[in-house]
Amino acid sequence: MSSASGGEDAAKAAARLRAELEQHNVRYYVYDEPTVSDAEYDGLMRQLEALEAEHPELVTPESPTQRVGAAPVSAFGAVRHAVPMLSLNNAFDEEEVTAFDRRVTDTLRGAGLLGPAQQADYFCELKLDGLAISLRYEDGRLVQAATRGDGQTGEDVTSNIRTIKAIPLQLKDGAPKVLEVRGEVLMNRADFEKLNVAQAKRDEKVFVNPRNAAAGSLRQLDPRITAKRPLRFFAYGWGEVQGLPGAQSGLFDEASAGAGQASLLPEKSHGAMLAWLHELGLPVNLMHNHRATGAEGLMAFYAKVGAMRATLPYDIDGVVYKVDSLPAQKVLGFVARAPRFALAHKFAAEEATTTLLDIEVQV
Ligand code: NAD
Repeated sequence: MSSASGGEDAAKAAARLRAELEQHNVRYYVYDEPTVSDAEYDGLMRQLEALEAEHPELVTPESPTQRVGAAPVSAFGAVRHAVPMLSLNNAFDEEEVTAFDRRVTDTLRGAGLLGPAQQADYFCELKLDGLAISLRYEDGRLVQAATRGDGQTGEDVTSNIRTIKAIPLQLKDGAPKVLEVRGEVLMNRADFEKLNVAQAKRDEKVFVNPRNAAAGSLRQLDPRITAKRPLRFFAYGWGEVQGLPGAQSGLFDEASAGAGQASLLPEKSHGAMLAWLHELGLPVNLMHNHRATGAEGLMAFYAKVGAMRATLPYDIDGVVYKVDSLPAQKVLGFVARAPRFALAHKFAAEEATTTLLDIEVQV
């Protein structure tokens, strides 16, 4: 583990941390073979963030604190994302969650989107531990799928994605002209264990954890291999959208939408947008998604999910809070690598490392 103490000067410490993080990024994002736990990685990142906050002159655009993921590998075709695929800011304790809620509330009150005594409404989701994917539908038909890559350019994995049964190749009626769906590809724990047993029997690569098995299975040059892997998918957002039905037809304004028709207002709130994606035939994690108000509501969701986490069939590494109103999200905007309207609240380190330690790692 690195430390910026012991007389090492700040610039040297920052350079060392960056080199170390870059190495871990390549192992994790390019080879799907991490050699440290996520908690250790997060610890190094926190050290670098603290150093850069103390010495802003050390911040460079190339720093891992400013960038997302890693560059796509050239074996796949490159896909330029019309809307960048960013990361999420992290919180590890209640204080950071409260600070996030305070920043959101202050900004929205300042913009007149919240009254002086009103609290912010959030949409809470599980933080699925898989890999992010962007699915592009044109006139309802799946035409392209790409990994996040460095956030600006991802890898073309269309042929592989087409083998995942949970992902519709054709959306139901009502799809807009262009719809980029963002979501997570993942593998259930039981499927991961079965896959590793089979891989070991054949003397083939075993995976560190379900996340790396999902990433390694999707980023195969031969889609026939991907087709044999039990991959799943949940949608949690959108990228480029052209021709939202409501914008043209006028059918989707607040006045004409009756009770129970909130899902017909995808441009109004994150929750409504997800309900709309679900109506179009996309898998959405409806069972665990939840609305909450203020920091207290967020902490209650975190506690509830923490208590039932072990009963889920798949790994999660935290929960995600998103400001529900899409107009409010727009006002809050983005920082370099993440939106200001969302926060990933991670689970404690010792829980987060168990999967890595339980499995024999092949590097
Ligand atoms: P992140 O995983 O902390 O958060 C962003 C990602 O969360 C998104 O890209 C998306 O894939 C995912 N996600 C899951 N559920 C979501 C939901 N409901 N809504 C929105 N997004 C959701 O950030 P990151 O930039 O992908 O990766 C950084 C993290 O990856 C680190 O904090 C570390 O835990 C891990 N990492 C580990 C190593 C290692 O060597 N162990 C190396 C690099 C990164």
